[in-house]
Amino acid sequence: MARIVVIGAGMGAMTAAARLAVAGHRVVVHERAATYGGALGRVERDGFGFDTGPALLRLPAVYRDLFVKTGKQPLEDCVELCQVEPAVRHVFADGTTTDLPNASRAGVGEALDAALGAGAAARWAAFMNRAREAWDRTRRPLLEEPLWPNWQVLAEREPYPSVARKRLLRRERRAATLAEIAEFELGGEPRLTALLEHFALASGLDPRTAPAGAAVLPYMEQTFGTWSVRGGMRALATAVYERCLARKVEFAFESAVVRIVEKDGRAAGVELADGTAVDADFVVAGVAPDALARMLTGTPVHAPQGVPPQSGLPSRVTVLLALRGARPDGTPHRTVLHTTDRADELDSVFGGSGAHGGAKSSGARPGVPTTPTLTVLRPDDPTATPDAEHEAVTLTATVPAGADVTEADVRRIVARAGAVIPGLDDRLLWHEVRTPADVAASTGADGGAVPPPALAADGGRRLHPANSTAVTGLYAVGGWSHPGGGLPHAGMSGTLVAGLIVEGPEFRGSQ
Ligand SMILES: Cc1cc2nc3c(=O)[nH]c(=O)nc-3n(C[C@H](O)[C@H](O)[C@H](O)COP(=O)(O)OP(=O)(O)OC[C@H]3O[C@@H](n4cnc5c(N)ncnc54)[C@H](O)[C@@H]3O)c2cc1C
Repeated sequence: MARIVVIGAGMGAMTAAARLAVAGHRVVVHERAATYGGALGRVERDGFGFDTGPALLRLPAVYRDLFVKTGKQPLEDCVELCQVEPAVRHVFADGTTTDLPNASRAGVGEALDAALGAGAAARWAAFMNRAREAWDRTRRPLLEEPLWPNWQVLAEREPYPSVARKRLLRRERRAATLAEIAEFELGGEPRLTALLEHFALASGLDPRTAPAGAAVLPYMEQTFGTWSVRGGMRALATAVYERCLARKVEFAFESAVVRIVEKDGRAAGVELADGTAVDADFVVAGVAPDALARMLTGTPVHAPQGVPPQSGLPSRVTVLLALRGARPDGTPHRTVLHTTDRADELDSVFGGSGAHGGAKSSGARPGVPTTPTLTVLRPDDPTATPDAEHEAVTLTATVPAGADVTEADVRRIVARAGAVIPGLDDRLLWHEVRTPADVAASTGADGGAVPPPALAADGGRRLHPANSTAVTGLYAVGGWSHPGGGLPHAGMSGTLVAGLIVEGPEFRGSQ
């Protein structure tokens, strides 16, 4: 039995903790906050309840597997999962509206043809077939296996099979980015472009520079579906926490780790903020790269030939709306209200340098975009409201890390949401705002940056550092390490770290 210290009680860290405890190890989680879950926060006020982090789950198989491998009660006995139907309503800049069904490619095609005109479905379906190839090529190395030691292969090889585009008197070109897929393969149709690009933006990626392999993001959602959790995503964090407790994982809250102690070239424990030293045979760090680097002054965390951590990633602003009046029947759970000024939005969030092909910068300065693409969540969940005569709504937009969100920004966001929530002004009881500073407070990531899932190609800039580090006995888990951010990916990082500790460096991934 090894003594294992886990730093942080985020989803990746708790997944690793539960699996390590089941393997017979003594696991203690040190979390600097007073509660578990990290990004999966919950605001409860006046009978209303809101998620402040992710609110929808993709690839629930990752958490189903965790519950199967760590106990008798399956995931569905611990939380109530519901397939969201329709998966999403899109409201495009020109007012066109379409509801896309959950996990039905045929249904998505019918909806697209009906809303955007004949031909849209065929283009989208051909794209999704190519996206499936990218998924088949990257599913194992970028989700299910530890980062390959020869990760350069992933850095160089674009898994998305772009269609060659012959241009008169010019060299043949293939789409290298999501924006180019939209231009070359979706005919530049503005609504198909917005549909494709919002998958990148929602994950914190600039579609102008995100490699074509980001096509796996729409593929994953439209093939495997989207789930909500009754009681909000916080209920999933609670279920994982309780599974950890059932497996005898110990938790120490308000117990920040300030230093990782090394002895004879390997991790030998941690030092807590109150000066206490805790010995360990292995240390698992589920924190952002800057926080991890601060715990290891002088020692590089990653081997010189390793993948460096990503930087410059955006955050989110979330506005929680408590409304009087019932949620109207037939209201979709999720509506995406697209920006009316793509250039301003992308320049505001990512800077003008992302512009491709000589596109002019909009001149926007970093900050909250003028008309951000808004995700509007209106869950049909009685636990989110005091009674049936009220409604809880959450608005989320991608904004630069560290962005200063002003009252004028919030007023603009709420006013925009009025386009898809009739009578919003009259119904609004109160609102609360969660800024990038609040995200930083709940996760410890500088500026409240949120890590996206790992992607191939682009010279390896979209990969995340390996779970094994340059320090023997120290492992990195969670969204900032392989295979990256997002609930399923962070859950997989926990699986991989547990495998590497239990089976050793020869571990090649879960079967
Ligand atoms: C606003 C928001 C929206 C998101 N939307 C989505 C979405 O739609 N879909 C999706 O899949 N994912 C989304 N994500 C990302 C997703 O929530 C995370 O990738 C996932 O929860 C994994 O988190 P993690 O394991 O990296 O830990 P984190 O949630 O980052 O938690 C890290 C933990 O470490 C603790 N910690 C930090 N420093 C120390 C220290 N020195 N000592 C002890 N403890 C420490 C922190 O207090 C925190 O509890 C979103 C995230 C945010 C913030």
